[in-house]
Amino acid sequence: MTPRRVYLDYHATTPVDPRAIDAMLPFFGERFGNPASRNHAFGWEASEAVEQARAQVASLINAPHRDIVFTSGATESSNLALKGLARAGGPRRHLVTVATEHKSVLDTCRVLEREGCTATVLTPRPDGLVDLDRLREAVTDRTLVVSVMLANNEIGTIQPLAEVSAIAHERGAIVHTDAAQAVGKIPVDVAALDVDLLSFTGHKMYAPKGVGALYIRHKTVLDLEPLVHGGGHERGLRSGTLNVPAVVGFGKAAEVAAADLEADATRLSALRDRLLLGLRSRIDGLHVNGTLAPRLPHNLSVSIEGVEPEALVLSMDDLAVSSGSACSSGKTSPSYVLKAIGRDDELALATLRFGLGRWTTSDDIEFAIDKVATVVGRLRALKAELGI
Ligand SMILES: *Cc1c(COP(=O)(O)O)cnc(C)c1O
Repeated sequence: MTPRRVYLDYHATTPVDPRAIDAMLPFFGERFGNPASRNHAFGWEASEAVEQARAQVASLINAPHRDIVFTSGATESSNLALKGLARAGGPRRHLVTVATEHKSVLDTCRVLEREGCTATVLTPRPDGLVDLDRLREAVTDRTLVVSVMLANNEIGTIQPLAEVSAIAHERGAIVHTDAAQAVGKIPVDVAALDVDLLSFTGHKMYAPKGVGALYIRHKTVLDLEPLVHGGGHERGLRSGTLNVPAVVGFGKAAEVAAADLEADATRLSALRDRLLLGLRSRIDGLHVNGTLAPRLPHNLSVSIEGVEPEALVLSMDDLAVSSGSACSSGKTSPSYVLKAIGRDDELALATLRFGLGRWTTSDDIEFAIDKVATVVGRLRALKAELGI
């Protein structure tokens, strides 16, 4: 018997849904055409499949299909959005974002600062949400773009994006959102949110890795400078032959997500609540990171007092969860997201992030509760024994 392993790290990545795999398979083999081949049936067939996927992906976020550009993932989409705007050369050179954003946004803003932009990086409130009054103060009529993520990848908190858009648009700024963790998990409607650019990615929503999309509201197209030049694919915004099987899988995964979204969310939020209740009943000194509402239904992030962080994380061997630390060049440092919401280093390091997903069962949740409670009990006993 293989030892039991439980995966609760669906924020890091998800397996490909079998329905998406089935849809992809023909495009590796007999339907191998290049969608840019305009003069034969092999090309037409591939192009039709790509356009169907574009419609499926667009429909999931209530966008017109012409407003979707396929990319390699959310990192590329956010790079295209922010660099594309800044490098288009307009008079506005100011960027506004939040300290809890994904690195693909924060690091891109850093690069653009070296290219002559200025960036305001707002500290969020302790509950993880952006402070709308501070945002209102930060946005001026020199602001090019306001980039605020829809749902956070560590603490699952959901930003008041429609309000963010209203504030930005009042000053004539463009709104970009990184929705990589939200699309396919909660209803996302680009019209209701009134965003101009939205990044998302396949591998966080049961599609393959290496495919993603940028939604570009039609009227902002002319204001984007492409990152990749060449054959003029994707309306000139992203040259290069598309990864057709991955695009097809992305489309199918979007269709599946739209159909299952409500049922998945209801089931997973009940499991998540059970997880929190179970952990709380067995572990004292447990702190939830970020507000519990509004929050992704499948996310829980907790910091645990009185345990040696490294030992906590290393003891999770057969339970795949994320820690509250980042490791760069061999040095462990606390998560900048947890620091930004005011957690001290010690608690931030002693953090576990749970991401539930489509194949999470209640047995998995009971296993996780027992595992974490047992490990915490053992580590605390050891600490007491050693008198530290
Ligand atoms: C995963 C993730 C990304 C990066 O997506 P890739 O497709 O891996 O480039 C960006 N933002 C958030 C919030 C994410 O969770």
